Amino acid sequence: MAQNLMKKLKDKKYGNFSINDTTLRDGEQTAGVIFSYNEKIIIAKMLDEIGVNEIEAGIPIMGGEEKDAVKTINSSGLNAKVISWNRANIDDVKTSLDIGMRYIHISIPISDIHMQYKINKDFDYVKKTLINICRILVKEQVIFSVGGEDSSRAEKDNLYEIINIAEGEGAYKYRYSDTVGILNPLEIYKNIKLIKSKFKQIAIEIHAHNDLGMATGNSVAALEAGADFVSGSIAGIGERTGNCALEEVIAYFKFIEKREINFDFKKIKKLAEIIAKITKRPIPVNKPILGRNIFHHEAGIHTDGIIKNPINYEPYQPEEVGLKRKLLAGKHSGTSIIKFKLKKMGIAITETEAKEILSAVRQKSIDIKRNLNDKEIMDIYFNIKH
Ligand SMILES: [Zn+2]
Repeated sequence: MAQNLMKKLKDKKYGNFSINDTTLRDGEQTAGVIFSYNEKIIIAKMLDEIGVNEIEAGIPIMGGEEKDAVKTINSSGLNAKVISWNRANIDDVKTSLDIGMRYIHISIPISDIHMQYKINKDFDYVKKTLINICRILVKEQVIFSVGGEDSSRAEKDNLYEIINIAEGEGAYKYRYSDTVGILNPLEIYKNIKLIKSKFKQIAIEIHAHNDLGMATGNSVAALEAGADFVSGSIAGIGERTGNCALEEVIAYFKFIEKREINFDFKKIKKLAEIIAKITKRPIPVNKPILGRNIFHHEAGIHTDGIIKNPINYEPYQPEEVGLKRKLLAGKHSGTSIIKFKLKKMGIAITETEAKEILSAVRQKSIDIKRNLNDKEIMDIYFNIKH
């Protein structure tokens, strides 16, 4: 069964990997963030339209609205596979089965730290528990994945044993979780390469956290090493410093490596804005892919380069992500932006005039602590001219 599914997944994946979105599960685990039933349904629909392959919709054992929302999302006919998240115990799994889940993810702690300090059990217990749960899921004929919590801090032999069990018991995917975000891209590349050389039947997913700012880099490295899935959230929302920001990983492969990826960045921007509103956490203006100001140019050398050809200082076109390029005049400007802006207003100036206007523009910008708009530049021009 796992092999068949792997084949199917391969046909559907974009740019040779698949996207697992956990905005509604790990994303919602951000301290102080709650999505209502309706918000969850809206987000799931948008994620589906954006083009993610899998939606980790929530944790049914939590009951109440959470359980209802997962159930509704699961039965709303989305293209994406809808998955519920479960601890490796019978109650969690039963609740998921009760609401009709056909895709079930089970998570189990596998590092010495988590076994000792979190669940206070030994590795034998973990293995037995996992095997039992897998067998129940096989009996129930559901498609399931196994997540090794804290995989990055687990003993290597234990990690391989767990993946081996998951593969042998019929899981279609193993989630390699860098639970506290301690890996770097070089390490993760080596780890995933090795795992991929050892295990051929089970898909490998990278699930990176951003504690040291490396979630995107680590996810890209894992995919380059052959991981089949990337798991993350919109805008990287998640516990502590967050999860891997999916849009950053996809943008890298689409815009830089030019892989064929059917992923709607304009919709993701809209969804990120909706999430920012719900969570009351505005998107930073300089956030990669999503930030309002990421195509604003002011520094003299840069604007000059952009005017000559945007390719000089832009890694991809602003329109690709639903943004507009803005050339600004201010403290850091050079003469080319002054000439460019006035020319657009139908005024041709000499180099000497441009220098004179620039010096006034810079001074005013320092005084008012912002960029100047076109009218203000025009006013300076007329003041100098007349
Ligand atoms: Zn996580």
